[in-house]
Amino acid sequence: MSDRSLSDQPRSAHEEFIRSRPAEGLLQTPDGRRVAALPEALMQVLHRGSSEPATDNRRHLLYHAGYEWGLQDMLQLSARLREESGGTTNTNLWKMDAPFVLERWAAPFAAAGWGACIFDLSSHTKGITFVELRHSAAAAATGNAATPVCHLYAGLFAGALSFYDRVESHAVETECVALGDACCRFIVGPGPIIDQAESARRSGIAHDAICRLVLEARTPLAATPPAGPAKAAKIPWKK
Ligand SMILES: [Zn+2]
Repeated sequence: MSDRSLSDQPRSAHEEFIRSRPAEGLLQTPDGRRVAALPEALMQVLHRGSSEPATDNRRHLLYHAGYEWGLQDMLQLSARLREESGGTTNTNLWKMDAPFVLERWAAPFAAAGWGACIFDLSSHTKGITFVELRHSAAAAATGNAATPVCHLYAGLFAGALSFYDRVESHAVETECVALGDACCRFIVGPGPIIDQAESARRSGIAHDAICRLVLEARTPLAATPPAGPAKAAKIPWKK
């Protein structure tokens, strides 16, 4: 995790979340999980230039790294929630409310300086989730850009929602601080719909209009959710 602090977050809260044990070379969260500090210079190297067509591979790499990170992080959260509930077999992540699960998942990222996000689940039953991110570390590292730069976050949200929904989802960033927007906004949903949203974004269509487009779009997922076993088989980490 990055060692950046949120500009509006008291430093004491950051220090409380990350416990340093220099003698052992350890950074840990209060519950004992080991974390790594990601130098801002590395974030700059990873993201700068990613808006250029020649760096599509870098964008895909960041997106897929985020996707796998989101899946694995949600898998760990699932285990922690099961432990907290006493390990009962009828208490698992999928039986808990989505807002609670997603807020629990996102809280450590905010505490570690990756920014704060708000999930709009008003269209979740249609397979669409909207995410607002403030204080993106990627946008801060990149500076001004011609296209959205938060590919790592897009992958994170897609991976986390894929795990929770038990169906493969993808994400597109439609507004980004690096473009001069007030915050970064993402749409998470079925691949074909996200492809349409990305095409619309590249055509210069604004975020609100893209949201209307994706909600009007019809896909097999939105119309008829596939059966359980088929949905589970699409989760990459289960391959
Ligand atoms: Zn962004």
